[in-house]
Amino acid sequence: MTLVAIPLSAATPDDLLALSAKAATTGADVVEWRLDTCQKKGADLSAIIAAIPRSPLPVIATCRHPDETGDWVGSETARLALLAAADAAGAAYIDCELAQAEGLATAPKARLILSSHDFQGPGTDLPGKIQAMRAVGHRLGIPVIAKVAITARDAADLTIIRNLLVHRDGDVIALAMGEHGLPSRLLAGVWGGFLTFARLDGDGGSAPGQPTVGDLLGRYRLKSQTANTRILGVMGSPISHSLSPHIHNAGLAQDGVDAVYVPFRVENAVDFWNACGAWIHGLSITIPHKEALLPLATVQEAPAKAAGVCNTLWWDAGVLSATNTDVEGVAHCLGNIRGKTVLLLGAGGVARAVARIVSAGGGTLLVCNRTLDKAEALARDFQGRAITLEDAQRTPYDILVNGTSVGMKAPADTPWPFPHRPDSLVFDTVYVPLETRFLKEAAASGAKTVDGLQLFIAQAAGQYRRFTGRGTAPEDLMRQVARHHLQG
Ligand code: NAP
Repeated sequence: MTLVAIPLSAATPDDLLALSAKAATTGADVVEWRLDTCQKKGADLSAIIAAIPRSPLPVIATCRHPDETGDWVGSETARLALLAAADAAGAAYIDCELAQAEGLATAPKARLILSSHDFQGPGTDLPGKIQAMRAVGHRLGIPVIAKVAITARDAADLTIIRNLLVHRDGDVIALAMGEHGLPSRLLAGVWGGFLTFARLDGDGGSAPGQPTVGDLLGRYRLKSQTANTRILGVMGSPISHSLSPHIHNAGLAQDGVDAVYVPFRVENAVDFWNACGAWIHGLSITIPHKEALLPLATVQEAPAKAAGVCNTLWWDAGVLSATNTDVEGVAHCLGNIRGKTVLLLGAGGVARAVARIVSAGGGTLLVCNRTLDKAEALARDFQGRAITLEDAQRTPYDILVNGTSVGMKAPADTPWPFPHRPDSLVFDTVYVPLETRFLKEAAASGAKTVDGLQLFIAQAAGQYRRFTGRGTAPEDLMRQVARHHLQG
């Protein structure tokens, strides 16, 4: 089972032991004592090494060489002597860079990790490096743990890490640093990594992109991952703000589905899918990639085909399928619209989903958008009429929809600075904040309101059903989790 290691450093043995005790309470398996960083913080390294036997968790002793962005200041002889002292003191693992491994004359008592880092890019000849590490182990007469860390240029590089892990011929630690590489850390249990690194809550970590141990063990359920665990995720850029991993993983855990859902920060969608699509069972797609992958799907469900965009891609019995669950989510939020007049503010992606539902449902569509040309184009596509904001305030309507981004993260802004009609239904697609000024004013006028969270949960539920093949999604739990994060 993949171990979780927390890299730590401190200026005193007591502080380092206290951090190690904290790591032990999180469920981590191992602590990595970064002797080079302890040195930088002014620690007496012989006192740190003397404290190794008192660590509540097994210790990886690492004294990173400056060539691999380590903080060590001193001779190579002194550095190797320090590692030998850590070994004698009872460290469970000793980490030494492959590039410096010729300095290792004898095998340590501890397990030896031989490491290679590329902080700039995807590295070169990684299988060759791992072979070279095995050769060092052969010379010393021990099996070594091969560690390779690269920097992902884009999420397509995740496949490099996956290949190293699933085709391993011994213990391997492989990871891609940076936000584009984060899934390599979260999926180490699926791919069979010997160990993955995480940071304590509130700590910056020792390398770019490390998740917190709480997230790794909680949301991403590292200890339950096996080679059979299905990989799901959300792809976009930016992506770190996404609530989708929170709600989907909560649902998967509650339903006992053997799958994990991770955030993929992706710049080039087609390159990513070509490199990684074979091992991803299902993908939620968000800005700016909703158009890019639709042509790759063999089956394009009607909402995606008609809208020309998809927010969901999944393998269904070996066939790549695409749909647009925003459309079914909008239908859920608007209810029956036959014979009703819908005044739609906005003409972007979500507005297109609204327009489609109004047109298909027998409603009358009025489109009002800052850029009139776009309102006219959308109205043309869905048999509606474009109107200016000035005309809109004098026009009767039954349903008013905010399909613009006005009000998002800006509670003082509203796309409708006019009185609301008390007998209307008012729907805001924006859900951050949960209660927008638009909806507050509508509710105060007596209008019925539907918030953007309902759309978010409905579209996510459509994805969940397709990813899992289950008839229903745990919508109450998903809503509860989303609310918790939005209010937190
Ligand atoms: P989009 O394609 O970029 O469209 C943005 C729309 O907002 C355009 O009509 C744009 O008008 C208008 N707009 C932007 N800034 C404006 C301003 N200052 N004043 C007036 N109009 C402005 O974005 P989208 O994908 O449709 O998303 C729009 C919003 O829907 C997002 O904020 C998001 O919160 C929400 N959304 C919610 C869900 C959900 O699950 N609840 C799902 C998808 C989207 P121009 O054409 O003039 O630029």
